[in-house]
Amino acid sequence: MAYDLLIKNGRIVDGSGMPSFHGDVAVKDGKIVELGKLSGPAKRTIDAEGRAVAPGFVDNHCHYDAQVTWDPLCSFSPDHGCTTVVFGNCSLALAPVRPGTEKRVAEFLSYVEAIPMEVLNTVEIDWETIPQYMERLDQHLGVNVGNLIGHSAVRYYVMRDDCQKRTATDDEIKTMQDVVRDGMKAGALGLSVSRNKGHYDPQGVHIPALWADEKEIFALGDVLREMGTGIIQSGGGRAAELKDGLMARLSEATGRTVVYNNLGQTVREPDLWKKHMARVEETSKAGIRAYPLCSPNRTTQSFTMRNCQTFRGAPTWHPILLSSDEEKLKAYADPAIRQKLHDEVVEFKVEVPAAGYSRKWYDYM
Ligand SMILES: [Zn+2]
Repeated sequence: MAYDLLIKNGRIVDGSGMPSFHGDVAVKDGKIVELGKLSGPAKRTIDAEGRAVAPGFVDNHCHYDAQVTWDPLCSFSPDHGCTTVVFGNCSLALAPVRPGTEKRVAEFLSYVEAIPMEVLNTVEIDWETIPQYMERLDQHLGVNVGNLIGHSAVRYYVMRDDCQKRTATDDEIKTMQDVVRDGMKAGALGLSVSRNKGHYDPQGVHIPALWADEKEIFALGDVLREMGTGIIQSGGGRAAELKDGLMARLSEATGRTVVYNNLGQTVREPDLWKKHMARVEETSKAGIRAYPLCSPNRTTQSFTMRNCQTFRGAPTWHPILLSSDEEKLKAYADPAIRQKLHDEVVEFKVEVPAAGYSRKWYDYM
C-alpha cells in the first residue's frame, strides 16, 4: 500500500496502555492504517529516531474560556503535545451570560485564575446562552475542545446578585437544571462545580458555586444522570471528599465520572495524601468513579506582590490583596503588618482555607 505518511523508527506509545515499542506508523487518508515494521512507499517519510510517537494528550484541566476566542489553538497546550483541551473547569465559564453582565461574569474567572480584567475586557462577548457560546467557538477552532458548564456562571445567570447571598429555591434550581440540560444538548462535555474555599471574586466574596448546598449540586448532576452522559468536575473537592465523601456520593448518585482537585501534598497536613489515597482505593474498589486529579510535576506558581493570589484567604493578606496598588505599597511598608504577613504564610500561625503551598515556598523565589 502506498501511504500518505510514514513515521519511521519512533518509540510508539499507542494510548492503549500497552508498553511502548519501537516501530513505524503509517497514515493514509488522514487515518492510521498500519503499525509495526513497515516498508511500503509513502508520499512523505519522517524519521522519528530518538522520539516518541504518541496520540495527542488531553489537557484535562485548563481555563481557556476567554483565550480560545482570540487563540483558537489554545497554544500553550498544543505546544506541549496536547491535541484536546478541557475548559470551563472549577465552576468558571463565560456562558451563560446576560447582556449587560459580561463584566461581572468575567470577574469570577479573572480573580480566581489571575487573568487580568484588562485582558478579559477585550473579549467580544456576542453570545448569551451556552449553545450560542459553543456555536461561536465552532466557527473558529484549531484544537479539540471539551467545554464544561460552569456552575458559578449558571448560578449567577439564574439568581443574579443573590447567587452570593443564599441557597437557591426549588424554582431556581429547576431553572438552573434547564440551563444545564440545554448546554448538554448542545454538546457540552459535562458540568463543573466547586468546593474550593480559596476561590473568591475581586471583592473578596466566595464565588457563586460555593454558596450552593448539596441539594443544588446533586440536582444539577441529576440532569447528567437523566441524559446518561457527561462528566462532573469539581474544583477543590478533596476536603469535601475526606470530610463526608461528597465526590464519591455525587458519582454514585449520578452514575457519572467525577474528577476533582486534587491528590497532592499540603503544607499543613503533610501526611494527608496517604489518607486520601486510602480513601480513593476504597471507593474505586466499590466501583465508584470519583477520581482526584494529580499533577505529575511540582506545581510552581509565579506571582508578584501586586497579585499574590496564593495567599488569598489568609486574614492579613486577603484585604491587602483586594486593595489598590497604592494601599498595597503602604501596607507592605509597615513593619507591624509585615510581621503579620510573615507569621501567616511563613510561620503558619493561622489556619488558611485551601492553602496548598509548600512549607518552604520562599526557597523558590
Ligand atoms: Zn481550575
